[in-house]
Amino acid sequence: MSKKFLQIKQDWLDRCVRCGSCRNVCPVFNATKEEPSVSRGKISLIDMIQKGYGKLDREAALLFKKCTTCLRCQEICAMDVPYEEIILKAREAATEKFGLFPQEKAVTSILKNENMLDGAGNLSRLAYLFLKPSKSPQNAVTRISIPGKGKAVVPAIKNGKFNYKDRLFPAMANKKAKLIYFPGCMFSRAYVDTSRNIIKVLNHLGYEVFVPSQIVCCGAPSLHAGDTKGFKKLREKNTEVLNTIEADGIVTGCATCCHNLKHNYNDLNKPVFQFLEIVVENLETLKNWKAKKPLKITWHHPCHIVRGQNIDKSTPRKIFETISGITYIEMQESDNCCGMGGSFKMIHPAISDKIQERKSLNIIATGADTVITECPGCIMNIAEGLENQKSNMPCKHTADILAECIGEGTNL
Ligand code: SF4
Ligand code: SF4
Repeated sequence: MSKKFLQIKQDWLDRCVRCGSCRNVCPVFNATKEEPSVSRGKISLIDMIQKGYGKLDREAALLFKKCTTCLRCQEICAMDVPYEEIILKAREAATEKFGLFPQEKAVTSILKNENMLDGAGNLSRLAYLFLKPSKSPQNAVTRISIPGKGKAVVPAIKNGKFNYKDRLFPAMANKKAKLIYFPGCMFSRAYVDTSRNIIKVLNHLGYEVFVPSQIVCCGAPSLHAGDTKGFKKLREKNTEVLNTIEADGIVTGCATCCHNLKHNYNDLNKPVFQFLEIVVENLETLKNWKAKKPLKITWHHPCHIVRGQNIDKSTPRKIFETISGITYIEMQESDNCCGMGGSFKMIHPAISDKIQERKSLNIIATGADTVITECPGCIMNIAEGLENQKSNMPCKHTADILAECIGEGTNL
């Protein structure tokens, strides 16, 4: 019996009455129709291992990763089974025994090291000069070959670095508060323009924004891979930096960073906000903003916003329907996972592709001009799905659209 498994409270596992309701909502079960894919199946296996009737072997470790951690099962579970905590503890035990999967090891090693991250960003910019970016409007994406997956679509990194660290961007209206901007790895290296747009929008809404240096990856990829020690080191470093700066709160445009900072950073001394939580508090100001031309948008709810942070599903609609010239169209299954799930996409690419395809078809069926969301992983994965469907619809961040509606004036 694995010593680590004893740390999963038996009460959590016993709460599962095997009702099977989670099968109806699980995107992985929907794609595979295999019982071990759904939370009920994983909880049964963990229970058996914990009681000594099963073995923590490599097959079990692979099964623990067959989950996007979308939290749909946890949301509908009438027995309040804390599935996220159970699966993260199971992954931690498996990683301690077998180590990380090679794909996870490669990604988490880069994310844990700022110099390697900068190097990867520089290499990507260099690659942009030689690889042919797509002519579609999907944020100028590039197709590359990934072993075991075939062609993948990734953002073509053509813009400069996000080099605004240790800078204060003053409010452009009456100052309401000072916020620290936590960009996260993707918005400081890949989607740099989105970071600029987030700061621009916040300044126009009356927020002073400080961008600190010394911030590292929030650690979510390490935590979700089961590398809890690696996560704790990153958390310690970020907490020290964030607690030292005087400010009224921390804001991020990344759903996963925000979910992680809110739930797993126990010692932060200031509140954390998702970007759209700040924006929705300013609907009176938004009434004066206008789209340059009529725009039909649809919204994808990232799992780590709608369930991870319990942000009300009406929030994006409230924001975009306030802006003149924008029509909000609800998509079918708007809060279904896009199939990214961090390392899930790398470890189980065929299942991820099926989930992604369903999401892309739902998006296209809306007939919108643009799909909007607020997570860089979702943006990248949805752009790939739309590119695969030969759709002309771009996928953008909330701030990218809002920045176009403000008019002139920026501190950047
Ligand atoms: S919905 Fe909850 S109680 Fe029912 S099988 Fe799934 S995890 Fe168990
Ligand atoms: S978190 Fe999502 S993918 Fe994982 S078992 Fe639950 S519903 Fe399925």
